[in-house]
Amino acid sequence: MIFSGTKNIYCVGRNYVGHIKELKSKKPTKPIFFYKPLLCLNTSNKIVIPKNREVEHELEVVVLIKKNGVAKNEKQAKSFIGGYTLGIDITDRKLQNQLKKESTPWFLSKSFNGSAVVSKNVKRKLGDEFYLKTNGEIKQSGKTSNMIFSIERLIVYLSSFINLQKNDLIFTGTPSGVGALKKNDVVEIGFSDSNDFEKYIIS
Ligand code: MG
Repeated sequence: MIFSGTKNIYCVGRNYVGHIKELKSKKPTKPIFFYKPLLCLNTSNKIVIPKNREVEHELEVVVLIKKNGVAKNEKQAKSFIGGYTLGIDITDRKLQNQLKKESTPWFLSKSFNGSAVVSKNVKRKLGDEFYLKTNGEIKQSGKTSNMIFSIERLIVYLSSFINLQKNDLIFTGTPSGVGALKKNDVVEIGFSDSNDFEKYIIS
């Protein structure tokens, strides 16, 4: 099954100017990475909000890594890309803001069972525009061409610290428009140039 060999889920923070503005964050001079444990991986069409938590959606392009190793430059980085899909980095924003204030890692605000939602619609070519709808209404849309750090740059940077492994996933950051997910919401995500989309029921 697709994604069954996933070992690591890497995520990037602050990779779109619009999202940096909406959270009143600082624009980074180098990529910001964080990590989600494998238990977060969610390839189903159900998103379960954990008890007593309020969560937000962060729509992101997810890159699939197809081989082990280190990418020394952006040209080499291309040979590590096995495909592109979309995902939702589900975030407990209240907790994240609190952790940021305390200058401590925001790991726990990003980590719960199923918090790394990944669509099975894997593409060989990266589309530009992508969107997230909640109950039929567009809430987030972004353009991959607006990333501050390109996918190739992210791969080079990450693998200068730690070797990439086949089937690793990289969430590449969210555009603006993050917002709350509520019980019974229906969420749809897709690339605008494609008829494929993925639908999720929130419970
Ligand atoms: Mg994110």
